[in-house]
Amino acid sequence: MEVKEDSWGWLGDKDGKFLAALVRKLLIKERAECPLQPLEWCKWLPAKVNIFVWRTGMYKIPTRKALAKRNIQIPELSCVFCEESDEDADHLFSGCPLVQKVWQNVCKWARIPELFAFEVKDVLEHYKFCESRKDAREVVKGLFMLGCWCVWKSRNSVVFSKGTGRSEDIMGDIKSLGFLWLDNRSKYRGLDWVEWCKYPMYML
Ligand SMILES: [Zn+2]
Repeated sequence: MEVKEDSWGWLGDKDGKFLAALVRKLLIKERAECPLQPLEWCKWLPAKVNIFVWRTGMYKIPTRKALAKRNIQIPELSCVFCEESDEDADHLFSGCPLVQKVWQNVCKWARIPELFAFEVKDVLEHYKFCESRKDAREVVKGLFMLGCWCVWKSRNSVVFSKGTGRSEDIMGDIKSLGFLWLDNRSKYRGLDWVEWCKYPMYML
């Protein structure tokens, strides 16, 4: 009997030829077929944050690239944080190295799996895959929505008022605003700041 050597085959192409470009094409096709689900409102965040995130999910926020597309004169298209890519919503909330650092810290703090995001949608839907407890999901969902809000605030402060745009400051904002709103707007009254800073679901 003839013995054949084991081999790997790639099913993504009819000739079995593997190309990174084909993987990319497949991923993009797959993603285009599953758009962002209608945004679930987060009750412990104010309406202004929910509305901002809802608009972000539909790419309706005035990023530099979005403004340029509408023929508004923008002297500079690059991201204010890293200056490595043009500023659009996907870069600003998922691709930017500075913002990735923020998400890394949020995940570490909330003790949830790391986020690998390609688009805004991935950021907003991460909570669905990392917490089985319903109450914890609600907190985590809000933290990512709040994170987007704080990133946008920081971005605006760099553009309009000489802000520094540091990931540590954005993280500090997420912790303090999260504490304030969860303490005032949810069933968890009288939260302990020190415990909150250690783990945002300590009260569950
Ligand atoms: Zn950037």
